[in-house]
Parts: sequence; structure tokens; C-alpha cells
Amino acid sequence: MTKLIVIIVIAALFLVVLTAACTTKPDGAYQAQPQPQQLPPDMEQEEQQAQQQPPQQQPQQEQNLPEETPQEEGAQDKFYYASRLHWPHMPVTYFIENEEGCGSYETNRIKRAFRDISNATGNAVLFAQANDSGSADIEIRCSFIDDCYELSTDIRYDYVIRTETICKHPLGITKTIAEGSRLAKAYIEMVGLAGFAETKREGPSGFYVGTCGHTITEVHELLHAFGYGHSEDDSSIMNPGADVFSLTTQKEGACKGSEKAIDAGIAADLINTYSGKSKG
Ligand SMILES: [Zn+2]
Repeated sequence: MTKLIVIIVIAALFLVVLTAACTTKPDGAYQAQPQPQQLPPDMEQEEQQAQQQPPQQQPQQEQNLPEETPQEEGAQDKFYYASRLHWPHMPVTYFIENEEGCGSYETNRIKRAFRDISNATGNAVLFAQANDSGSADIEIRCSFIDDCYELSTDIRYDYVIRTETICKHPLGITKTIAEGSRLAKAYIEMVGLAGFAETKREGPSGFYVGTCGHTITEVHELLHAFGYGHSEDDSSIMNPGADVFSLTTQKEGACKGSEKAIDAGIAADLINTYSGKSKG
């Protein structure tokens, strides 16, 4: 009997040793964890930053959302009766992403284009500045194209021939995103020439050169942002070549007659869509 008890005690001791040995493994595993615990401080900082950011974003969203997200889906689209592509509210909001990069000349010309469209539609179409690009209907940014402008001077006896050439390039690019017949977002890129006021800090604006100072490109791109495509009609502002001028650094006014008004048909269509008069 005593032998049995001794065996049981020894066996019990083995178990204790075994469990002790087992607990060292989990201890070892627990030792490995403090390292991950040392890493999180960075994570915590990120989390803190993330926590700091949302409160800034949320009030902005709260300011913008009540107008844009009424409870009923039908109420979201003020112009639900329009069968053509249309913005669901008025005014349409815009944000110029790099206003400093655009410079004052192009920024003013973009704003002139807004007025041109508002005037042509009897204020049926209006524009308002958004607080940021995310909440804007139309995001506008400016870019510059390098090595596109060339001035060559040919001296012959007693006179000089100056030849200016501008490479073929898009003056503006517009992308639109639509949900059904509702426009959801538009991105407009205005392309200026590098080597002038905005980039080289000399000469006229890189958006003036080659455009005669007209707002044709800006209006053309904005009308794309309202869902209008190109027209083959040479007289249309939506003709793809409508905004290209071979004469380049001419003074404003020197290209009189080359200006293009918004097509009467497009103006009438915009009035129909956004004045709320047409419910067909
Ligand atoms: Zn176009």
C-alpha cells in the first residue's frame, strides 16, 4: 500500500513538473507578445490621428449632407422629370483643386465661363463654390504641357518673320460619372502651356497663349460636365476644334469675331432641364 502511495506521489510530482514545463511554453509565448505591444504606440498615434481627423470631416459632411441626402430617393433629384443627363440639384458646386497652380488668370477665366453659362440660361444654371473637392460636383484642376510652344525668328535683310507654333494638344479634358440619367461627378482638367507666367514667371498666361483670351475651352469643358457631347457643326461651341487658334500671342481683341457663343439649342435645353418648367 505504501508503495502504491509512493508511486502515486511520484506520479503526481511528474504531473506537476510536466504542467510546470508546459506553463513555461505559454510564458515563452507571452514573452513574444510584449514585442507587438511595443509596436502599437505607432499604431496608436495613427489611431489618434485617425480619431482626430473624423471629427473635422464629420462637421463638414453634416453641413453638406442635409441638402444632398434627403430621405426619399426621389427627393434627391430635383429634376427627376428630365430624361437627358442632368445634375440632380442647382446650383452645381465646383472646387478648383490647385487654384494657386491655375493662377489668377485661369481662375478668373473659369469663373467667367460660369457666368457665361448662367447668363446664356437666364440663371437657370448656377454655380457655387464647394468647401472641398470631395463634396464638389465638378472638380477642376490645372496642368501645363511642356515643349509645346515654339517661337522661331527668321531674319531676312531688313525685316524679321516671327513664327509661333503650338503643338496639337487637348486644351481641356472632362470625365463625367453618371448614375442612370443623374450626373454624380465631373472632373475637368484645364491644360495650359508651360514656359509662361504660371510656370516660368514671365510673359502672358500659359492659358492665354493660343486661346485669344476666350472662355471657349472652359465653357466647352463645362458643357461636357453637363452631359453634352461633341458636335460636328463648325459653329457649335461643342465642335472639338472650336477652341484652337492658330494665331497665338495676339492681344485680346485682336481675334475679334473668333469668339463663340453657347449654342442656342444647348441653352434652350439647359433652361428646359433646370428651370422646372418642362415636366415632359
Ligand atoms: Zn470636347
